[in-house]
Amino acid sequence: MENVNVNVLDPERTVVVATGNAHKVTEIEAILAPVMPGVRFVALGELGDFPDPVEDGETFFDNALIKARAAQSETGLPMAVADDSGLCVDALDGAPGIFSARWAGEHGNDAANNDKLMAQMADVPDEARTARFHSSVVLVRGDEVLRGDGDCEGRVGHVPRGDGGFGYDPLFLPDDTPGKTMAELTPAEKNAISHRFHALEDLSAKL
Ligand code: IMP
Repeated sequence: MENVNVNVLDPERTVVVATGNAHKVTEIEAILAPVMPGVRFVALGELGDFPDPVEDGETFFDNALIKARAAQSETGLPMAVADDSGLCVDALDGAPGIFSARWAGEHGNDAANNDKLMAQMADVPDEARTARFHSSVVLVRGDEVLRGDGDCEGRVGHVPRGDGGFGYDPLFLPDDTPGKTMAELTPAEKNAISHRFHALEDLSAKL
């Protein structure tokens, strides 16, 4: 990742993006830049090596706010944006939800998480396999908090398919792309229907 000295940035015209995922930075910038003209989006990782805050909130929004506030205080910049997302399965009473990344124990072990999902859904009939990805995006501007929320509705598949994306994508069949898992979509196809896209659109309408 590129290194940027925080002292050369104009604090009033910089948004620090609190994610280590370069794709998310691009996606966030593509949607928010048109409604925030003249503002530069800089990934937190470009400004230094900061520890991840403890995400101990009870909702996606809580955890996104924790990440955005941490980025503000770590960099001293007044504007920060963060998102938190996960998969909510109806047959599992909304699980894994905010625990999506570490559902099988180790943080970010996608293969173990997908194995657990397949095991827990093994006896669930097709009509009851409904689920959605949810994303909450938070933009902080000084003390002000703006939020956007979005969902991507779909179903949990029986076997993983596709090499694209990450996380639960190989087991998630979006309603918007019949017959295809999210991991079988191109990045552009996924970005056009994703929970993050809808959350960012919701946020950008408030700016
Ligand atoms: P985070 O909000 O990026 O930390 O995502 C939390 C977890 O939710 C990830 O580790 C994935 O397991 C899951 N998740 C979030 N968004 C997606 C997605 O677009 N596709 C697949 N899994 C996702």
